[in-house]
Amino acid sequence: MRRLFLARWIIPNAFECFEGGGVLVEDGLIRRVVERGGALPGGADIEVIDLGDRVITPGLINAHAHLELSDLAGLVPPGENFLEWIGVVLRQRAERSAADFDMAVEAGALRMLATGTTCVGDVDSTGAAERCLGSSHLGSRVYREFLDAHHAERAVAEIERLEAWAESPKPVCSGLSPHGPHTVSGELLRACAEVAGKRELPVSLHWAETSEEREWMLEGAGPFSSALGKSPSCSGLEHLDRCGLLCGRVSLVHGNFPEPGDLEAVARAGAILVHCPGTHRFFDREPVDMDAWVASGATIALGTDSLASNDDLDLRLEMARVREDHPQLAPELVFDWATRGGARALGLESQIGELGVGMNADLVAFEGAEVQGREAWLERLTSGRPEIEGVWIRGERV
Ligand SMILES: [Zn+2]
Repeated sequence: MRRLFLARWIIPNAFECFEGGGVLVEDGLIRRVVERGGALPGGADIEVIDLGDRVITPGLINAHAHLELSDLAGLVPPGENFLEWIGVVLRQRAERSAADFDMAVEAGALRMLATGTTCVGDVDSTGAAERCLGSSHLGSRVYREFLDAHHAERAVAEIERLEAWAESPKPVCSGLSPHGPHTVSGELLRACAEVAGKRELPVSLHWAETSEEREWMLEGAGPFSSALGKSPSCSGLEHLDRCGLLCGRVSLVHGNFPEPGDLEAVARAGAILVHCPGTHRFFDREPVDMDAWVASGATIALGTDSLASNDDLDLRLEMARVREDHPQLAPELVFDWATRGGARALGLESQIGELGVGMNADLVAFEGAEVQGREAWLERLTSGRPEIEGVWIRGERV
């Protein structure tokens, strides 16, 4: 069965828009994108889905989440410092069963779909996302998490777990998440780099999120020193680089406290920067130097992080927040981060992130009968929460 999606406006990516036309879908993939005036395909086997005065866009892509924590909404206060926050998250997590985590993943995935997200990069520390997302409509890259807190004996155990995981069959599209340079030793990072290289897996890491992390990395000092082993005595990015994890398969989440030159080094390596505007506000952080992020030339993506540090899993809201926090940003740039940027972060840019021939038919139809033209649409899409008429994954309504 072929499906022809028609709408008054079609935005194949942040930089293109045309009035009138359609998207032809077959077997879940986009076969043709027809601009106004182009001959629309016909035939008895074509189901026409006419979306009227709306716009069709690619689905939004959330580059960083922890769906297994989706039942922690409102239960974790920001705390006096990051360690206090993480202590509450760990205590809450310890009280939950595997079934609780599975339910949290499923509820979070439904919320994402309802708010226009069609694919997520999810960090999985319990196995719940790996168990549940394979049968969810939501597209995903599930990053399995590893962490040894720079303790040698834990590194040995984690490397064994990593090797067993690497050999096991996966029900989902997988990636690796060594938690971050401050919580993962050189031995474990190098083992992750090797597995990722051999199996061509994307890698997602938390990086330069807090000033405490920076202090511990550089000097082995500060509140982290009681929980962690021996500091590598270098910056987080240097630690990653030495271990083979500053490269194009790596996305770096947060980046709130980069050292001078770090952003340029990230861009040179082809790594991706991921910003989580809701989490940033939750911890009441100073805005990141977004002009420096953009000037670095690095690919940028957006994430929600988890409901332990955000009030929703809605990428529309994250786009609106980043524009409020950085009013100089052009709406098209922000929409690009939430679509193609996310696809790059997940290593799925040949399949998702825009409406093009051969790409997955992951579509969202937004309301806005009065909106006219590309600029007005991008303004609408990236501010507030534009109402959604429907979401289709690989051409099927969800
Ligand atoms: Zn995170």
